[in-house]
Amino acid sequence: MDSEKFQCVGAVLHKAGDLRIESVSVREPLEDEVQISIQSVGICGSDVHYWTHGSIGPFIVKDPMILGHESSGMITKLGSKVTSFSIGDRVAIEPGIPCRKCTLCKSGKYNLCHEMQFCATPPIHGSLCSYYNHPADFCYKLPSNVSYDEAAMLEPLSVALHALQRAGLKAGNSVLVCGAGPVGLLNMMTAKASGASFVIVTDISEQRLETARKLGADACISVGKLSAVEVSKLVCEELMKHGLSGDGVDATVECSGASESVRSAIAATKPAGCVVLVGMGAPEVQIPVLDASVREVDIRGVFRYANTYPLALRLVASGKIDVKPLITHRFELKDSLDAFEVTRTMKDGAIKVIIDCSNSAKA
Ligand SMILES: [Zn+2]
Ligand SMILES: [Zn+2]
Repeated sequence: MDSEKFQCVGAVLHKAGDLRIESVSVREPLEDEVQISIQSVGICGSDVHYWTHGSIGPFIVKDPMILGHESSGMITKLGSKVTSFSIGDRVAIEPGIPCRKCTLCKSGKYNLCHEMQFCATPPIHGSLCSYYNHPADFCYKLPSNVSYDEAAMLEPLSVALHALQRAGLKAGNSVLVCGAGPVGLLNMMTAKASGASFVIVTDISEQRLETARKLGADACISVGKLSAVEVSKLVCEELMKHGLSGDGVDATVECSGASESVRSAIAATKPAGCVVLVGMGAPEVQIPVLDASVREVDIRGVFRYANTYPLALRLVASGKIDVKPLITHRFELKDSLDAFEVTRTMKDGAIKVIIDCSNSAKA
């Protein structure tokens, strides 16, 4: 096998506010890796946060880092030990590579692995570039009816699947989703596809709630500056209006990270219900812990996902979840800065912005 490095094009973050579209070098795939011609990459809130702030919590961009972790592409080269794929296969890329050896990995909770190498979490490079190497066992072959754009959406869809698994969602349950951004909308759609009987969505933006309504939310509440008690009251009124118990929802998925929304999530969940925290906001939030205690409301953390890609792919391939309406904007790789700006400002009704890398060949 020839072992040459070559140059391709990537979106490289040098420091906060300094994102450059420039030449990056691509090495040969390792023996267990495939080389992929990247086709579609979704921009995530975390990519934008690294761009605007240069860090998320303890993860600080110290050296130039390629952004992007919601990616799909076509296999162009196989590592010497890869037998599960052929050149030309279309794949979705699960962006986190755990150690596969620790007790957390072995117990199936590899999202919590201490050795996790996750795309575009410093110092690990992401996949917003035209060519990229990835371990074959974290690639998933796409059936012909799933597009590259849809395959990129399997990443945020995985977040929703894992959140609802953590919430213990059962068919027939009522669900509250706080926040109608891409992850909130995907949680609403996944809850419905999983048999939730009634899904309420809250947000501060009327425009986002209108989108939630169009995509199938049963009720939407504009929370503005309402207190947790007021939001909880409105949620219970909606439930009763539809013949359900006014005790609160069975499960709440908090996707906004806003402090008052975390409090609302607890207040609006029924006794013995469950709140899962997906949104990341302030590191410390004051919550009504006694109220949660005496009503046995479980509060559970959620971090990324594990073993969800195959399920997410089947949900999209079977038509149970249609992610296409969430894709509102597309840009070419060379215009990535515009794409990041649209995602940051959410202007023109932007929900999910996809970067098309298919025309960005080797440099
Ligand atoms: Zn993401
Ligand atoms: Zn591990």
